[in-house]
Amino acid sequence: MPELPEVETVRTILHRSLCNRIIDYVEVFYPRMILSDLNEFVAKLKGAKFTDVKRKGKFLLFFLDDDKVLISHLRMEGKYLELTHDEPPTKHCRVLFHLQDGALLNYDDSRCFGIMELRSRDDYLDAPCLKKLGKEPFEITVDELYDRLKNKKVPIKEALLDQTIMTGLGNIYCDEVLFLSKLNPYRLASSLQKEDVKNILKHAISVLNKSIKLGGSTVSSYHPSKGVDGRFQNELMAYGKKNMPCPICHRKMRKDFLKGRGTTYCPHCQHVALRIAITGKIGSGKSAVLQYYKDQGYSTFSADEEVKKLYREVTFKKKLVAQFKEEILNDDGSISLGYLKNVVLSDLNKKKELEKLVHPEIKKRLLQFILSHKEERLIFAEIPLLFESKMDNLFDYIIGVSCSFESQKAHLRERGSSNIEEDLKLNATNIFDKKVQKMDFLINNDGTLEDLYHELDRISKELK
Ligand SMILES: [Zn+2]
Repeated sequence: MPELPEVETVRTILHRSLCNRIIDYVEVFYPRMILSDLNEFVAKLKGAKFTDVKRKGKFLLFFLDDDKVLISHLRMEGKYLELTHDEPPTKHCRVLFHLQDGALLNYDDSRCFGIMELRSRDDYLDAPCLKKLGKEPFEITVDELYDRLKNKKVPIKEALLDQTIMTGLGNIYCDEVLFLSKLNPYRLASSLQKEDVKNILKHAISVLNKSIKLGGSTVSSYHPSKGVDGRFQNELMAYGKKNMPCPICHRKMRKDFLKGRGTTYCPHCQHVALRIAITGKIGSGKSAVLQYYKDQGYSTFSADEEVKKLYREVTFKKKLVAQFKEEILNDDGSISLGYLKNVVLSDLNKKKELEKLVHPEIKKRLLQFILSHKEERLIFAEIPLLFESKMDNLFDYIIGVSCSFESQKAHLRERGSSNIEEDLKLNATNIFDKKVQKMDFLINNDGTLEDLYHELDRISKELK
């Protein structure tokens, strides 16, 4: 979707080429995109002369003689192309302006989201689409923007995308501005200090200016004019850089969906909690690792604990009974963990059915946990079946905990396992060993607790 710099690039090109040229007549092939009266649109544009091309936010404003103003928004795919009189209109031509000098101004829009509206110079700013637009970064002052943000209890990314607060920053440039301002995109707009707002505005102006200078960004199918590409996409620092090294700290960039909009940022530079997964086989000491970090004051999540809670919930219990029949219940009506363990060990299909019910629930809870702690420094989650449940991509770093078979047995004994041999069998389907290369930190837990804590301190220091 073209953003402000791209629209400004289009405006410059159109301004240069159109001023003083006269429309002979107009053909409309997709009447629904004309918001004003269609007959009037066609009649009034006949013989009209372009006097100026301006822009408000992402709206193009064609000023014509006799005080007419044609408002145009390109939305997703709209583009203007000038054709010579002998060139055929493009495949998705929606409006064709025949100019008196024989040339054609071809408005192409494959997705038909663009709009046009004809108004007069007196009332064009009252058009509903323009009326609500906020000021652009070039016009608004720090105090004005601060005042508009201070009561917004929404993430700053969302507030900056709200074109009624300030117009001009779309998804690409929001990510760039927040990255340059080193701001957590999840931070509530209302929590920003004036200094933060000053930074946002400074970077918004410089990013937009730089992009305008380079002709905008060419992403998806946007082209300012035939054969001309913008070059700002080569300068992007955050947008589209998922999993790539941060240009500042060289650690991995991350992409989330914030209110449905892809948001790319550096969790280190932008102070978003780093998500660390702890995984390992049964009896490896994962829980001791999680407990240690919890004792250090970090927020923690235990998939095993969540599963236990899940089994106690009435609605989930009903789902389990529907799937596995009454035999899954103990006499007191609780879920029989022994039965489930047996299912997991003996019947691959039933094990899969069980996982299909459990994993999405745990993932939902994990995402809630992540979202409610996004302004901390580090958060830890213990997930035994991290890779099997495909939750590994939700994390920035993975700590793998391993130990010898003897240590596993010892850990299970300390934990009071009633059947160590059977518990160890649960490891048969654990794919930890195959994923060792995916671990950012691999801890060998055969030593003393002091050794373990020492290693865990080293890791948390390195991550911070
Ligand atoms: Zn960084």
